[in-house]
Amino acid sequence: MKLVREPSELSNMLGKYAHPLHTVGLVPTMGALHAAHMRLLEVCRLQNDLVVLSVYVNPSQFGPREDLTRYPRDLERDSAMAKSAGCDVLFAPSDGVMYPNGVEGQSIWIDPGELGRHLEGDSRPGHFRGVATVVHKLFEMVRPDRAYFGQKDIQQALIISRMVDDLGMTTKIHTIPTVREKDGVALSSRNVFLTAVQRGEAPSLKAALDAALDAWRNGTRDAPTLEKIARRVLSVGAPSGAVDYVSVASTGTLKPVVATVSEPAVIALAVRFGGTRLIDNELLQP
Ligand code: AMP
Repeated sequence: MKLVREPSELSNMLGKYAHPLHTVGLVPTMGALHAAHMRLLEVCRLQNDLVVLSVYVNPSQFGPREDLTRYPRDLERDSAMAKSAGCDVLFAPSDGVMYPNGVEGQSIWIDPGELGRHLEGDSRPGHFRGVATVVHKLFEMVRPDRAYFGQKDIQQALIISRMVDDLGMTTKIHTIPTVREKDGVALSSRNVFLTAVQRGEAPSLKAALDAALDAWRNGTRDAPTLEKIARRVLSVGAPSGAVDYVSVASTGTLKPVVATVSEPAVIALAVRFGGTRLIDNELLQP
């Protein structure tokens, strides 16, 4: 595996592999790798000739009161894990490479519009503009045939799929099911910040989704009722958490469904435990 920091080095490296039948797969991450990232790499390895992992903590997707400075960083450990997953290239660009004019000095952005304003976008204004822009930059640098994202961040995966469609990009987007701990907690680099009490309450996010899913499978189609069922589980199971939102939303528009669910939808939620915010979701399959 090669560690690459400059796009010029990256294109040399990718050029060496250039072959009309060779495919390049990209797994974009912010590092602090865990088993979910390993799963993305595993799927990428199975489906492509060349596997590129990017590790970049993107400042433009963090709000002013978010955890950019305390976000866990350990490139040495990430590198060892990526190597063991059969990764070929670890691309770890600097801020100077990704934002040559600085974040403040950048004029041109990819704006996901209304898709970026619902769900996570409500509490994190500008987050998806930062995400879409950095992923667009990574796609320009790596030119992957396929890119892999996790369902845990479903809004991100849907926005990137839409970016690719709307801008006529050729990368195919693959979304991998959420990887969980045995007790249902979705793996996240932020879980390390949970206290023992908060970690004890964290399984209630998945339990809340499961309760709503049970009702869904039993025929409940009213979105407010599904949300109420999930909220009830959270209020009992996560008394130290503050619920940011529980929302049934269309997977096409990401708009909240206010009455009957009659299109492909997802139930998504976010809970704040002190300074740590956890998110999760389940698709409401017809
Ligand atoms: P991050 O480094 O947190 O930005 O995540 C990098 C990629 O891993 C994103 O596509 C995430 O959606 C995905 N990911 C993170 N946690 C999980 C998880 N528990 N299950 C599936 N995918 C995940």
